[in-house]
Amino acid sequence: MAATATEAADTAPEAVTVIGLGDMGSAIARTFIERGYRTTVWNRTAGKAAPLAGAGASVAATAAEAAAASPLVVVCLLDTAAVEQVLASLGDAVQGRVLVNLTSGSPAQARDHARWAGEHGAAGYIDGKIMGDPPYVGTPNIMFPFSGSEQAFRAHEPALKELGTVAYHGEDAGAAAVEFMAQVAVGYELLIGFLHTLRLVRAEGVDAEEFAGRVAASMAGYPPLLESMAKAVKTSEYGPDLGSLNVQAALMGDMISHRESLGVEAVRMREVKRLMDRRIADGHGDQGFSSLFELLPPRA
Ligand code: NDP
Repeated sequence: MAATATEAADTAPEAVTVIGLGDMGSAIARTFIERGYRTTVWNRTAGKAAPLAGAGASVAATAAEAAAASPLVVVCLLDTAAVEQVLASLGDAVQGRVLVNLTSGSPAQARDHARWAGEHGAAGYIDGKIMGDPPYVGTPNIMFPFSGSEQAFRAHEPALKELGTVAYHGEDAGAAAVEFMAQVAVGYELLIGFLHTLRLVRAEGVDAEEFAGRVAASMAGYPPLLESMAKAVKTSEYGPDLGSLNVQAALMGDMISHRESLGVEAVRMREVKRLMDRRIADGHGDQGFSSLFELLPPRA
């Protein structure tokens, strides 16, 4: 028996547009194609669409034509300047579409894009950030924080989940960018400390790779510590985590002199020691490491 028009619509593959076919946009478009989505693509340099056309994508002649082709429009460009240029070329094409912007940018830029989408009749704006590299797109090993219109996010969650592990951070379009900036900052602060420490390890003749393996194993202790520190900061109740500051400050002195004896940078250790000494001088030597938060700017 022939399918009715309604049944055919129910089983038709969902249509998705991807605007921007750099390394990341191409990986996103390819994932949608491979998962059976009817995928339309556009890129400023047209040649980059050819491999995707070969894989089954429709190639639009303009960004506006691409946006008009699907209810879900994913934008992944170099930066906010590129996003603004492309959005300006869309005209009314975004009307009734859900716009998902995966381009890196600040929380304020995300909120500006959300305002722009609202003013141009979009059905919703979702800002997303990408925590991982193109080869991981389509696997659980890449994280996509999203924020913005919850209704739009829930409606398109199955498609967005094709790309990786997703998390929704709320109606504020800037929230995904806040999450991205904060998570990336933790990574960089940790890793620059690790690189300086590899200098120390090498200066002492220890094998860097073997040391890295031991550090990786000891990382298992950090998740509960992060949670208890965040709770202490939230409640302003500072127990002696990592020991009391009185004891830790003495250790810091030894760590700094060891580093300096090897010519290894000790700037962060000196910062920690300075904060500990101030906290002890203020009468809080019985508290722990998390209490240093009280001295960090901006202070409420
Ligand atoms: P690429 O440099 O590979 O691609 C950039 C894309 O932006 C190209 O499609 C390029 O078009 C387009 N573009 C640049 N300027 C303009 C413009 N003025 N008008 C129209 N199109 C423009 O970057 P990626 O694909 O790697 O990155 C895309 C986004 O993903 C970035 O915001 C990046 O920070 C983010 N990201 C990337 C990761 C990665 O590992 N690659 C990891 C996490 C996030 P054209 O081909 O014509 O030059």
